[in-house]
Amino acid sequence: MKGMDVLEKAVAGERLSEEEVLSLFDLPLPELAAAAHEVRLRKTDPEVVTFLIDRNINYTNVCTVACAFCAFYRTKRQKDAYTLSYEAIAEKIEELYRVGGRRILLQGGVNPELPLEWYLDLLRYLKGRFPDLRIDAFSPEEILGLERLTGLRAEAILERMKEAGLDGMPGAGAEILVDEVRLKAAPARIRVADWYRIVDAAQALGLYTLASMVIGFGEGKEERAAHLLGLRAQQDRALERHKNGFAAFALWTLQVEHTRLKGKAPGATAHEYLKTLAVARLTLDNFAHFQASWPTLGFKVAQAALYYGADDFGSTMLEENVVSAAGGHGRTHATVREIVRHIVDAGFRPAERDPLYRILRYPDPEAILKEPVELPMA
Ligand code: SF4
Repeated sequence: MKGMDVLEKAVAGERLSEEEVLSLFDLPLPELAAAAHEVRLRKTDPEVVTFLIDRNINYTNVCTVACAFCAFYRTKRQKDAYTLSYEAIAEKIEELYRVGGRRILLQGGVNPELPLEWYLDLLRYLKGRFPDLRIDAFSPEEILGLERLTGLRAEAILERMKEAGLDGMPGAGAEILVDEVRLKAAPARIRVADWYRIVDAAQALGLYTLASMVIGFGEGKEERAAHLLGLRAQQDRALERHKNGFAAFALWTLQVEHTRLKGKAPGATAHEYLKTLAVARLTLDNFAHFQASWPTLGFKVAQAALYYGADDFGSTMLEENVVSAAGGHGRTHATVREIVRHIVDAGFRPAERDPLYRILRYPDPEAILKEPVELPMA
């Protein structure tokens, strides 16, 4: 099938084969963009771009996995190794409440000093102190670490966490879901089969999950296509078996500054980012929402991404330490005012949403732009 026929097929809502997905990577960017944007306009409110107010709290930087692309982790003996106290985490949440946010991401290293009870007590403590707080926390890698520590399976760990107050387990740690790529970048990193097994366990329990992808490890189009096709298959399974699939897809580019991969991994250009995003929109026919990533490539590329398949501007990410430790484009948090301004400038109506993409409010851009309110910094 010729390239343009493949695009027509995707725009018509038909599922693409593996060969067709691969062929998309060779098509010119403008044609890919036009098709991806058409699909986006059909699947989500064409006038609206959503965003979320949240805070990412990195509760510990102690980690035994030692990924070569990570500048955030420390060994427990390093001077700047830390684990936040429950009270320190609560203080950060109070700051979030003061700017209207009600959702946190809690993510950290695989710290063998922290037993399962530490996590369960933390969840109970936070839900007791902030009853309307939404907690999307931990990654398949952290859950795998707890499996090894406790001898329990992910299902049992996540069930206990859910009882203690966990609302979701974001899909961090996906990077490229092809073991050969992962082994080169991080030999001890969670393998593909375990990542899917633990995500599936979370989805079976009705927990929120997010599908993500990081490009720039030196992977080729075959590996990128395999990643997308694996996510599409998992989404089919999860929706059919659990009636609970990934809430959205988020694409990032690898940041290697201050990491052992500097000079060894090529990273990805804005052109590659936009192309891969458009291919993802055309391939993942069972996903509704796609995030534009401003922390890795900046606000301008994120605005462009709104015409390459994305319908969401991500979140304020008040306090984010993992991307910022590895470089990023210099900004890893945004104010509501900035996000609203960039959405309006790109030609859309901003809408604040919750993690499940339910609209909470349509902020009045004029009022917000007149009165700049800066989010507090950690
Ligand atoms: S990316 Fe996560 S698992 Fe890997 S070293 Fe950093 S904190 Fe640890």
